[in-house]
Order: sequence, then C-alpha cells, then structure tokens
Amino acid sequence: MSFPLERVVIVGASLAGLRVAETLRQQEFAGTITIVSDETEVPYDRPPLSKKVLSGEWEPDRIRLRKPEMLDALNVDWILGDAASELDPTSKVVRLRSGRELRYDGLVIATGGVLRRLPGQPNWAGVHGLRTLADSLALRDELVGGRRVVVIGAGFIGLEVAATARTRGCDVTVLEGAPAPLIRGLGAEMGRLVARIHEQNGVSVRCGVKVDGFLEGESGHVAGIRLDDGSVVPADVVVVGVGVSPATEWLQSSGLEVRDGVVCDENLRAAPGVYAAGDVARWPNRLLGREVRVEHWTNASEQGAMAARNLLAESRGEAGTPYESVPFFWSDQFTSRIQFLGRAEGDETVEIVAGSPEENSFVALYHRGDEFRAVLGVSRPKQTMPFGKLLAERATWQRALDLVASWDAPS
Ligand SMILES: Cc1cc2nc3c(=O)[nH]c(=O)nc-3n(C[C@H](O)[C@H](O)[C@H](O)COP(=O)(O)OP(=O)(O)OC[C@H]3O[C@@H](n4cnc5c(N)ncnc54)[C@H](O)[C@@H]3O)c2cc1C
Repeated sequence: MSFPLERVVIVGASLAGLRVAETLRQQEFAGTITIVSDETEVPYDRPPLSKKVLSGEWEPDRIRLRKPEMLDALNVDWILGDAASELDPTSKVVRLRSGRELRYDGLVIATGGVLRRLPGQPNWAGVHGLRTLADSLALRDELVGGRRVVVIGAGFIGLEVAATARTRGCDVTVLEGAPAPLIRGLGAEMGRLVARIHEQNGVSVRCGVKVDGFLEGESGHVAGIRLDDGSVVPADVVVVGVGVSPATEWLQSSGLEVRDGVVCDENLRAAPGVYAAGDVARWPNRLLGREVRVEHWTNASEQGAMAARNLLAESRGEAGTPYESVPFFWSDQFTSRIQFLGRAEGDETVEIVAGSPEENSFVALYHRGDEFRAVLGVSRPKQTMPFGKLLAERATWQRALDLVASWDAPS
C-alpha cells in the first residue's frame, strides 16, 4: 500500500545513516530528513580509529566521511548529542532523551553497536574500549613506548589495536579465551596464521586463557589482569575488545522484533515504513540461505542505500529489492592487509592456492564439498577480490579452482 512520504527520520549518524540520507536525495526525495545521533560529531569513519588515528598518523579531520559542503547539500536537520529513547511505530513517533518528539512517515534505524563489557569490568584509569573517536584519542594518549598493553579479545579490532600499540613501541600481550584468534571469522587454522604475523612482530598472543579479574594499582589505575589459574599479567593499559551488541535498548517497548539486532525481512523492512541498516540489522540474506547480522563497513554502506531505496519504493506501493550480498571485510595489521569474502562456519576445508604463510602473503579458499564458501587473502588483493563475483553467483568449488588455474594459463 502506498503512503505519502514527506518526513524521514534516521536514527544514527554514522556510515549507514549517512548513506540513507544521500540515497534519498540522489533518488530526488524532496521532503525533510532528520538525523539523530547521540554522538556530537557529524559522520566519521570508524576503521581508522584502530589504525591510522590510533597510530597518530592521522588527525581526526582526516576521517570525516564527507566534506562540510557535501553535508550542507544534503539539506538535513541534524540533531546531535541527543539519543532516541523510544519508538512508537503505531503513531509514528520517535521520542528523544531530551523530551523532543519526532514525527515521521518513514524511519531508518541505523544505531550500530555498543561495546560489550566484561563482568566486573571497572571504570579505572587505563581501562579502555574502542568504538568512537573519543575512545581512539583517549587510548592513543596512553600508547607510549615501553608501556605494557594488554588486549583482551583477539578479534579483528583487538588485533588491530595490538598491532598499532606494538608499532608505537608498547610491550603488547593479547589474551584470548578461544584456542586461536579470529575463530569466528576465519576458523582456527587461518586464525593461527594471523597470530603468527603478530608473534613475528613481537606481540605475545596467549590463546585458551580465561580472564578472572582486573588488578587495581595506585590511585585507581589498572595494574594488571588476573587469569583463572591465579597468574597475573601486569599492565599499564588494558583494552577490552570483546565485541559489540546491537544498539537496540531504545526499541524495547516498540513492539518491533529485536533478537540480537532489529529483525527485518529480506528488504531490510522491520515494520511498515520502518527499515534497519548496518551493524544493527538482522535479515535473511538469500545468498547465504540464512538470517545474519554483519558488522562490516561495506555492509553498512550498501544497506543504508538499499534501505532508502526500499522505503521510497514502499511509499509508492512498489515491491522493494531484497538485500543479498557476499559479506566482505578487510583488516590492516602491521604491514599485512587481510581481506575476507564469504562466510566460514568452521567446518570447511581450507586450501592455500597462492603464496605461502611463510611470506605472510597468500590466498586461501574455503569449501564444503563442491560448495565454494569463502576466500581469505593476506596482502594479495588482486588475486583475492575476483572470488567475490564467484561467491555472488554461488559458483561451485570447481569454478573457484578454474579461476586459480587461469592464473597460470598463458594469456
Ligand atoms: C575501531 C573500529 C575499526 C573497524 N575496522 C573495520 C575494518 O577494518 N573493516 C571493516 O569492514 N569494518 C571495520 N569496522 C566496522 C565498521 O566501522 C562498522 O561496520 C560500521 O561503522 C557500521 O556502521 P553503522 O552506521 O551501522 O553503525 P555505527 O558506525 O556503530 O554508528 C551508529 C551510530 O548510531 C549512534 N546511536 C546509537 N544508539 C543511538 C540512539 N539511541 N540514538 C541516537 N544515536 C544512536 C551511535 O552513537 C553511532 O554514532 C570497524 C569498527 C571499529 C569500531
């Protein structure tokens, strides 16, 4: 059923939210767009927060997602430093912490994720998390050469922080409960190869250890981490990198289905006129044959654009377009660029088809029988990225091997 679309509210002013506004304007939407964010910044890019901003190579002005004149051209009402605290989809109202009420015809939820905390995690000096620009700058101030930095959690962001801290001359230990880093993303075998890159650069990566508590030093500053075997890892700085939870608390009374993310249909629609995009959205990805939530940059950008197009289509009474994509992310650690396309469940066979772990430069393919599932590239972008097309086409394992064979074929 069509409906008049004059007022669009976007909650979350980061990558996904920005892409919603840009796409609406590109599609010639002439109504009002209001973007609400609990941060005080206009949209900025998060990946450099653990890389070039944290290392000190870049200052914050380098990570603005758009120049001021481009933001002005969007003609958006920005409400910064205020949070959405309640949604009433029946009367189409978003309530803000400040008491303001925003009426909408179309709503896009792009609130991303909030850092998870460890049980008993103290707010002492020296204990950090990393999600925002402020987090990155506060941590950067503490990454002084010679300091002992303990990173809890060997996910991508934890490992990037470890690499950056090491590059700044810190003495770095990574603590991970699982038997290898990055198991959830890459599987144990490839995770161990990434750990090797860290060890070669002087980071101590300790897997299979369990954090039992934080030790307090003088004047409320952290002094170390206690493990469950009673041993202590001394620390001047601790970074807790144990992932994020979708930022959905404000939706509790909304009646929307919230289950580790805002549950959407395949068009990213959560309710009539209500869409979700980015880290907060959970949707059935037809390409993977199941419901997923993805915490990667490219996904947030593409979903923001797709949510905007589908909202416009719905308002015209037209069918929307399902969002199906091959998940993709990259990560920079020391001098290695890691790229991963597809999804690994841990039960695939993994074969290295180019380069070698010894040179920290290789391509590994993941398959389950005849089903080609994913590709991991370490510092081999030209050979890695073409597999994305095959994954999008659900190509067989044989077709992936044919692509490998074509590298050696005379041209
Ligand atoms: C340190 C770091 C490094 C990363 N590196 C990479 C990388 O190398 N490669 C990669 O693929 N991905 C990387 N990512 C992930 C990528 O940045 C995210 O997937 C992307 O930022 C998600 O965008 P989003 O707009 O969905 O959510 P977010 O960027 O999380 O933005 C959501 C916004 O909504 C705001 N918000 C939340 N709740 C409310 C509320 N109730 N009211 C108003 N505003 C609210 C938040 O404060 C935030 O500003 C990295 C992320 C981080 C943190």
